[in-house]
Order: sequence, then C-alpha cells, then structure tokens
Amino acid sequence: MPRDPRYDILFEPVRIGPVTAKNRFFQVPHCNGMGHAHPHAHAAMRGMKAEGGWAVVSTEECEIHPTSDVSPYVEARLWDDHDIPYNALMCEAVHKHGALAAVELNHNGYSASNLYSREVPIGPVHQITRYYPFQARAMDREDIRNFRRWHREAAIRAKKAGFDIVYVYAGHDLSLPMHFLQRRRNTRTDEYGGSLTNRVRLFREVIEDTKDAVGGTCGVAVRFATDEMMGPDGITAEGEARDVVAMLAELPDLWDVNISDWKFDSYSSRFAEEGYQEKFVAFVKTLTTKPVVGVGRFTSPDTMVSQIKRGVLDMIGAARPSIADPFIPKKIEEGRLEDIRECIGCNICVTGDMTGALSRCTQNPTFMEEWRKGWHPELIRAKESEARVLVVGAGPAGLSAARGLGLRGYEVALAEAGTELGGRVAGECRLPGLAAWGRVRDYWGGQIQKMPNVQIYLDSTLSADEVLEFGFDQVAIATGSTWRRDGVARFQTQPIPIDRDMPVFTPNDLMAGRLPKGTVLLYDDDHYYMGGVLAELLVKNGCTVTFVTPSIRVSDWSYNTLEQAFIQKRLIELGVDIHVTRGLMSIARDHAEVACTYSSRASRIECDAVVLVTARLPNDALYLDLKARQAAWRDAGLRNVKLIGDANAPAPIAWATYAGHRYAEELDAPDIGDAVPFRRELAQLAVR
Ligand code: ADP
Ligand code: SF4
Repeated sequence: MPRDPRYDILFEPVRIGPVTAKNRFFQVPHCNGMGHAHPHAHAAMRGMKAEGGWAVVSTEECEIHPTSDVSPYVEARLWDDHDIPYNALMCEAVHKHGALAAVELNHNGYSASNLYSREVPIGPVHQITRYYPFQARAMDREDIRNFRRWHREAAIRAKKAGFDIVYVYAGHDLSLPMHFLQRRRNTRTDEYGGSLTNRVRLFREVIEDTKDAVGGTCGVAVRFATDEMMGPDGITAEGEARDVVAMLAELPDLWDVNISDWKFDSYSSRFAEEGYQEKFVAFVKTLTTKPVVGVGRFTSPDTMVSQIKRGVLDMIGAARPSIADPFIPKKIEEGRLEDIRECIGCNICVTGDMTGALSRCTQNPTFMEEWRKGWHPELIRAKESEARVLVVGAGPAGLSAARGLGLRGYEVALAEAGTELGGRVAGECRLPGLAAWGRVRDYWGGQIQKMPNVQIYLDSTLSADEVLEFGFDQVAIATGSTWRRDGVARFQTQPIPIDRDMPVFTPNDLMAGRLPKGTVLLYDDDHYYMGGVLAELLVKNGCTVTFVTPSIRVSDWSYNTLEQAFIQKRLIELGVDIHVTRGLMSIARDHAEVACTYSSRASRIECDAVVLVTARLPNDALYLDLKARQAAWRDAGLRNVKLIGDANAPAPIAWATYAGHRYAEELDAPDIGDAVPFRRELAQLAVR
C-alpha cells in the first residue's frame, strides 16, 4: 500500500549543517549495555534501525577520555585511535542503508566512576561523585584546556570513524558542560562560574571547538536538557534554559532537546503519556532556525505529524520506539500502520544498561540478537519441514511463538483456555497505569490474526489426552504461571502458617475482580511493579493499605526501570502506610506477624485481609502429563513437546516474548547440543 499523503511531511529531508537527513526520523542516543564491549553486535543493532528507515542513527554516550570512564556501565568509547575501528563498524552498518551515523561524545564529569581507568574524576567544583564514596576534583584552567583538547581530539577520531554528526552533550545531569551550567553546582568564581554567561562558556567553547575540528564535513549537534524537573534549583524551561538556547541559538547545526535526568526523560508509560516532553521543549524552535529534535515515546504517526505541523519539532526523535520497532519509518512509508510494534513504555530496555548487562525489549525479542543470533525483527527463515505445530496458551510466549512460526509458514494451531488473547497481559493491562501493556496483545495478536496458516481456538482448555488425539508433530506449552498463596518467595522459602479465618488474596484474585475490603496488608516479596500497582488498585477501591516488604524500599527492582522514586512517591501521596525491612512470619485471624530483616524483632500488624505478592509457580501440569505419557507420542505422531515462557520459569513479559520467538527460530534447526547458543566476540589477547 502506498503511504498515506498525510504522512508525507515525515519523509521530507532535513539539512543538518553540511549533511542531510533523508527524512525526519531520528534515532537519538540510547544505551544498550553493549557499547565498546560487543562491537559487531552493537553495529548490527544500529544497522537494523537504518534498514528500518531511520534517517539518523546515533550511538549511546561515547566516553572521550579515561577520566570519563563510566564502568560498570558499558557505553561507546573513543579514548584513542584504537577505538576508531570499533566505531567504524557501526558507521558502515548505518551507511549501508543510506542513513547518517551520529556519535554522542561525552565527558561524565562528576558522574564518571573511573573504576576501570582509576583516574581522578573532575568537575566544576570539588564534589562527591554521583554514585560513589569518592570525590571529583575541581578543574583548574589547565584541566579545562585539557578537557577541550580531549573533546576536540575525540571529534576528529569520530570523523575518521565515519560519523556524519558529532554531538556536544549537556543532558541528563551526566556531562561536564551541563555540570558547569548548573547554578547549584557551579560555584566557581572565575570566568567559568557565576553569571549565566560564565556558566555557559564551556558549553559554547566546546561547540565552537567541535565545529572548528569537524564542522566542515560533520553536522554538530547539541543535546541539551531544557528542564531538570526540580523547580528553580535546576535549569527550567521557563528560566535559564530559554536564555541558554537564545545565547547559542545558531551555533550548533541541530538542537536535540529533552528533560533531565534520565528517569524523567524516559518516563515509563505508567507515569507519562506519549508526547509528554512537549511543554518543556516547545519554546526551542521559537529561538533558533536550526532543526530541533525531541522525544516523547512517539509511536503514532499522527502525533508525529502534529508535532511537526504545530512547529514543536522538526525531527521525530526516538530511543524506545526505535528499539521496540526498528521499522516504524518503513511501515509508515509503506502504509502498514497496523504492523507497527508499539513500545509499551515498560523500560525493561533500561534495565539492561542499569544492571551492566545486554538490554532486552518486551516488544522486540530480536533486539541485541541481530548479530549474536542473526535474528531480524521482520524476517525469519522459511519453514524447514511440513510439521504441524500446536501452541498451548496465548500469553506473550504463545503469541510470540505463533507469530514466528506463522511467519515461517508452518501450519499452527493456538489453543487458549480463556476467552481472549494476551494471557497475563490481558489482566495486567487493566491495572492502574498499565493500559499501554495491552499493546503486547494487540501487536502479536494482530499479526497472527492476519495469517491464514494460524488458527486460533479460544475457550479451549487442553488436556494431555486432547493434545495426543489432535496428532500434531510439535507442541509448545506456554501455559503461564500462577501467583503463590503460601508466602514463599525470597524471605520465606517454606510455606508460612496462615489462619483460615483471614481472607488471603493473590494478584490473580485481584486481576479476576476478587477484591478485599477494609484494612489490607499487602506483602511484597516480589519487589518489581506488581506490589505497588496493586496497592494503588486497593486504595482506589476504598481500602486502607499497609504495604509491607522485606526490601529496603517499595518496588525495589523498579529502580532499574527508573520508576522506583515515582512509585514510592505515589504510594506516600495515596496515604499507604509503608513498612520496609519487614518479613512476613505468619498470618493470624486478625493480624499478621512480621519480623525485622536485620534484628529479627517481631511485631504485629492488624488487618482485615492480606494480599500476597510473592513468587509464582509455573502452570506445567499439562507438560508433565504429556511427559508422563511419552510412550504414546509416537503413535500420536508427536515428535517433541517444549515448555516455554512463564510455564517454564516465571519472569517479566520480555522473557516470555523472547522464549516464544526463540522457539519459532529454533524449530527444525540443527541440534547444537551443548554449544554456546549465540555468537560471541571475545577480547583479543594483547601482543606481548
Ligand atoms: P506467558 O507469559 O508465558 O506467555 P501467560 O500466563 O501470560 O504466560 O499466558 C499463559 C496462557 O495460557 C493463559 O492465557 C492461560 O489461559 C493459558 N493456558 C493455561 N493452561 C492452558 C491449557 N491447558 N490449555 C490452553 N490454554 C492454557
Ligand atoms: Fe519499549 Fe519496553 Fe521495549 Fe523498552 S523494553 S523499548 S520500554 S517495549
């Protein structure tokens, strides 16, 4: 189908200094946990976005010098010429598809760890580092001259590597030029501190240096945080940000603007809507003629068009939407809007970087597997046999398996016990703040509903007898999991005593509409989102909620999705009574016994009901039944049964879509035995 003319505007070229972007789609810098450590995998991931139609594809932040080492986080690096070929790989992969490659040069200032380089961190003033118990040293004039030289040399190396756009970064509270800008931090008394003109000096000088070094052939972009979301203590869109943009308006070739720090810039869908940054960045275009790019978890082409037509942005920036669907531009261009795999705003991608591991994506299981496993988000090799495949369970694992198998051309039957597709997602997307999670069901379900070779059977609870009767060659069991009702998770590894007179609920009960009344003790030993979300649900339903967790804070693991601070704030504002570092010992008829996780001192909390958000048990009964009847498989024509997703081992949704896709990729593939199931890139031994 040709593209709808109302989206033509998205495909207009944009000049960025000496280079031209072929359309308005701009993959802004984003971390991925690979950086300098996995260069081929990184290049293939970026190349996939270029293949999908993005006009500009950027690196994550790129360290310019050993004093800017952010280990254990793994980012790009251009410390010296040795790093050039690693970065050149990405430029080649991006150029192959006619896109421009951008690099976000950065010196992290006081937020660098230097744990690997063991250099002394530097900043505008003597200051304790952001994450560690050691300090950054105040930079003297020589340090400033050195920093400017390092940045300039890194820009020249970037050009040699093949980058078309070189960034100067003043965002996320993670860069020296930004630290110098901040009034609260920069209390210097020389020409780099005090007035805004002085505080902006270093930023200006570095932009000028970069233009001078590479401006003849590369576009010079700035990334600038227009609001730090802390009122007058920080940079604000109504205050100094306006003056900074006015002062530097025509100096860079492009303004990439967003809010700071990262948790605000990458608000999850639970806390902000698509386009949420508009009110903080809309002023920029009124002050410059240079192109402006901004983000806001854009997945709707109509919203994108509106941003451009209303003069908010010139280019549509995206990190997460480009991860969830590297092919958004192509799909809009080809009039295939229903195929867009919308980001759900869960921030699982962020958890990779936050934990020093490879990123993964709930909606795109091929993300970061482009080189390691040769996976592609849109293509998969054709079937290699006439096998008929039964997938049992239409949660994220079953849906993703059925889509992959369907795309390969297998005859697939998908049997689901419930009356709708989606499994756990169908229930969870009805919980407060999680509506966007329904996009998992919408995308994967939508894809298979279009496939003539995939038959969907709802309201079909299958038994082992039925599976054997149907005569399928291959069976994938994706029957999900059920929340435990016995208190077992991390703190308790054995079931706890529970008085029968106390009403006890699990997340499954609440999602099925069975809600407690009165004063409810919610016990969270899961530590991810479910406990916090259910506390909100209970308050909305009129309950008085006491939140108890053995962790040191509410929804602790959500720190990795950048949501923890927002969740705890919300629960405090909702009047939830929060008890941390308390483990559940037993449940009596009118109270619960808890114990301090440090001192073991016991106390009691009165309540009318208890909600247990603990661990889950796999629903593997069907699988075990089939295994027990393996002798009957041959007569039934059954060759293999595989357990996938939560039914195998409960995990976040991203693990299930991955398991489903993996099943589809590996069906009929050669048995590799104990071999490592992906390509690795090992560090080369140095020549001694
Ligand atoms: P996952 O995250 O691994 O996809 P879910 O719990 O989201 O797991 O989905 C599992 C789905 O499997 C649920 O929709 C459930 O109704 C379905 N299911 C469970 N047991 C059976 C069965 N015996 N036959 C058919 N469907 C089943
Ligand atoms: Fe979007 Fe979640 Fe994928 Fe990140 S992991 S890109 S937030 S769907």
